[in-house]
Amino acid sequence: MSSDCIFCKIVAGQIPSKKVYEDDLVFAFHDIHPQRPVHILVIPKQHLCSLQEATPAHEAALGRILGIAGKLAAEAGSPGGFRVIINNGEIGCQEVPHLHAHIVGGDQPVGPMLKRQD
Ligand code: AMP
Ligand code: ZN
Repeated sequence: MSSDCIFCKIVAGQIPSKKVYEDDLVFAFHDIHPQRPVHILVIPKQHLCSLQEATPAHEAALGRILGIAGKLAAEAGSPGGFRVIINNGEIGCQEVPHLHAHIVGGDQPVGPMLKRQD
């Protein structure tokens, strides 16, 4: 656990969250500011800043995040599909430095992948 990490504190139960799933490797909870009707964050329980720091030792947790995404999306109300977003580092516009996969969906298409820059 990283002592000053907000998502480590959520895993430890020191900060409240709306938990939807937990197992030995990952923890999932509703995003506090949902961007779509379904917006869940899935995180490794062990602190990892981003994919920039990922090593083969993290593969089990990273695989679990993707492997559980469809079930979590369907159970949360997005059975027709969903998008997984992982922002990494400054260029990736990551705000919370504990790796998290956004699972976003609902009953309408989530929209274009990125806003055009021009
Ligand atoms: P990112 O920009 O990819 O780092 O996304 C960070 C996400 O964490 C945002 O969607 C925030 O709304 C969400 N977030 C920040 N603090 C909390 C919290 N305490 N509980 C749930 N979601 C949070
Ligand atoms: Zn952390």
